[in-house]
Amino acid sequence: MSARAVALPAAVRAWAAGRGLPRYRAEQILTWIYHRRAAEVAAMTDVPRALREEFAASFVLPSLRPETVSRSADGTRKLLFRLADGYAIESVLIPEPPRLTLCISSQAGCGMGCAFCATARLGLQRHLTADEIVGQVIAAEGRLEGAESISNVVLMGMGEPLHNYDNVAAALEILSAPWGLAISARRITVSTVGLLPQMDRLVRETKVNLAVSLSATTDEERVRLMPVNKRYPLAALMALCRSLPIAQRRRITFEYVMLAGRNDSPADAARLVALLHGIRAKVNLIPFNPFPAAGVTRSSDAAIEDFRQRLLAAGVLVTLRRSRGQDIDAACGQLAARHAEAPAAESVAPGPQAPTACC
Ligand code: SAH
Repeated sequence: MSARAVALPAAVRAWAAGRGLPRYRAEQILTWIYHRRAAEVAAMTDVPRALREEFAASFVLPSLRPETVSRSADGTRKLLFRLADGYAIESVLIPEPPRLTLCISSQAGCGMGCAFCATARLGLQRHLTADEIVGQVIAAEGRLEGAESISNVVLMGMGEPLHNYDNVAAALEILSAPWGLAISARRITVSTVGLLPQMDRLVRETKVNLAVSLSATTDEERVRLMPVNKRYPLAALMALCRSLPIAQRRRITFEYVMLAGRNDSPADAARLVALLHGIRAKVNLIPFNPFPAAGVTRSSDAAIEDFRQRLLAAGVLVTLRRSRGQDIDAACGQLAARHAEAPAAESVAPGPQAPTACC
């Protein structure tokens, strides 16, 4: 028996075209899979039975089920998924009424090596496929309670989304298309360490929001914290941000992890204001969330407040990200899915919940 492919849009469209089917057929099937969340091909009642059978012989429907769901005292829920090859990834549901944000992963592990992030310690295990990215959203919907519905999706979990551009772009299409999950692109945010060519592509090819993890105001410090800065230094990053066609009434979010004595001085605040000059920006300050052997520490509340006030005084829009789900290691930069270290599921000792990387 030949292996069946996951029913992703490009493959379904190619299959339909290869059979000379009218164009609407592929969209009809995709609507069944992604919009109506059909659990099986037999449910596609307006597709002729013979065609359904042919389809089922070629494709499997995407499916991703959480292996565990942990719940934080603050209502945050972390879903751990075991992938077919044994790697583990995590998603985090974050209720902040009236919003309910879902933070999803784009890679198992991450290759960017940021000094303050637990996921980086895993290294890159592999890119996620588009169905694994979308599957996290569908699975999280299955874990909603009462009248909850997901209002925002952020690609701020494990991995660097723009390092996995093609799969992420395919997933964004499914998430936002009317035949797909129909989540407005304005409610989807992709966060990046600052891979310049892919940032440029993302802004031109999609309508999602862009978030850039900045976290330092000099090349010297940023190289130490975020090795990607060797390849794409601050001046080039900010020049690109300045030139991107960001729509009126929208802004680039700059995430800034607050680290004691590393990036939280008054001089840093002043440099940050200067860096952002001429960019439609908002700054999201993220107090560092600790993990074992991190080697960096969180700024004090006083330092964070002073930093925030300096930005506000300079007219910069700034928000402070409250840490959520820390008790289940679901906070930003804590996602590392200790279960993920050993692909052989059975051999994993039930240890303490390990961190994933999300906000
Ligand atoms: N690779 C992408 C997507 C991950 S988003 C990116 O870096 O943007 C994860 C966010 O959490 C990033 O802004 C990152 O800087 C931040 N972060 C990572 N580790 C953290 C930690 N330990 N505490 C707080 N924030 C952290």
